[in-house]
Amino acid sequence: MQLNAWSFAEDNYLFSAFDIAIKQYDHTMGLLIKNGTVVTAADFHRADVLIEGEHVKAIGHDLKADGAEVVDAKGMFVMPGGIDPHVHLDMPFMGTFSSDDYSTGTLAALHGGTTTVIDFILQTQGKSLRHALETWQGRMNGNLFGDLSWHMAVTDFNDDTKKEVKEMIEQEGITSFKTFMAYKGALMIDDRQMVGLMNEVKAHGGIVTVHATNGDMIDFLVQKHRTEGKLSPLYHYLSQPEITEAEATGRFADMASYTGVPAYIVHMTCEGALNHVREAARRNQRVLAETCIQYLLLDASLYEKPDGAKWVMSPPLREKKDQAALWGAIDQGTVQVVATDHCPFSMEQKAMGKDDFSKIPNGHPAIEHRMELLFSEGVNKKRITVNKFVEVTATNPAKIFGMFPRKGTIGIGSDADIILFDPNEKHTLSAKTHHMNTDYSGYEGMQLTGKVKTTILRGQVAVHNGEVKIKKGYGQFVKRNKVSGML
Ligand SMILES: [Zn+2]
Repeated sequence: MQLNAWSFAEDNYLFSAFDIAIKQYDHTMGLLIKNGTVVTAADFHRADVLIEGEHVKAIGHDLKADGAEVVDAKGMFVMPGGIDPHVHLDMPFMGTFSSDDYSTGTLAALHGGTTTVIDFILQTQGKSLRHALETWQGRMNGNLFGDLSWHMAVTDFNDDTKKEVKEMIEQEGITSFKTFMAYKGALMIDDRQMVGLMNEVKAHGGIVTVHATNGDMIDFLVQKHRTEGKLSPLYHYLSQPEITEAEATGRFADMASYTGVPAYIVHMTCEGALNHVREAARRNQRVLAETCIQYLLLDASLYEKPDGAKWVMSPPLREKKDQAALWGAIDQGTVQVVATDHCPFSMEQKAMGKDDFSKIPNGHPAIEHRMELLFSEGVNKKRITVNKFVEVTATNPAKIFGMFPRKGTIGIGSDADIILFDPNEKHTLSAKTHHMNTDYSGYEGMQLTGKVKTTILRGQVAVHNGEVKIKKGYGQFVKRNKVSGML
């Protein structure tokens, strides 16, 4: 088993290197980033970076390039563009659509230094994966500013869907399959379907990801609270206690162990769930885990505010002790990715649930500020190193989801997805100045230190000092390689 996994990973790297080699000379324009400090998941050094076409050509001291445009990065960190592997753009949900579409969402991401996102396709129960793919392509095509890939959410696994798994991986470059253990009747699959899907995905070189909460336990509490007339946003939180997430996380880890599939838990929020990942590690299993920026910085006390609907999301915000557990797990490497679960709605949309928490569209806007929030609260406050920051915002998502080394690092031959980041600039977050298509910020008035000044996507300056330099349609769909579940 182990040997197979290794040769698998090597195949992937070779595949990427070959891809890069044939693409290397398709542009001639050069860009030379001088005097910056290059930071990757592994390195921290003063160096210039020369970009030719869409790729990094050289990293070194006193680089020269005739005719290249020179960008002065004095005082800046030169880091890989962020990869947010958990966003929902233009997504139908709870009778409405998330308010950022493919253009506003990927552009807001670029403003905040995220150059690639992975969004979700949702299969309609009773219909094919292909049908879902075509529906989503219809909304996405021609609208991207930044680069994007998709996870395929399998909501109905049967003999027909089973045949499509290989096709998605090998023809479409969609190598990750999202599952829901909650939202019965709409998105949830049962355990029999789960192990069937895991077996098929493993056979073809993909990874299974999960929304790990116990839908039946949650539905029971939602119904109980509604019957008792307890309808405020606080009851959204009280309907999804920690145990509902911990139980499903443990069950998912067990099913992944049973099938041997590479496994990834999205938006992990709490200590109880984390302990199941630690237990899996004790039996020599690797379960990959993602948390989201809001679970590190915000807590459940917000649900007692009159505007608590702003933070209604699933799973909900948790307690301070869970934040401490998650920060610790990032430092320890037990949580490998910090994403957003960006799923924005306007206050008018949120008001659909003003009389009943169960009708509030779930989700919160964050795609633009993940990088700056994590840097300010994580690196500046000495909870994580700047290398760890790059690892969890870019390198690990690229490795886990089959985009490394093309994306997620600054290496010779890699896509020139690069941000220039001023670690000292202070700024304040507000809905008045953000670029996401929503009329509130979950972080209104929060002061941060550290700001993205320039975002470069595949060799092209995309945003510089808040000014957009590319046109809609520049962003590309990223076909991904097979994955091993190893880092
Ligand atoms: Zn999500």
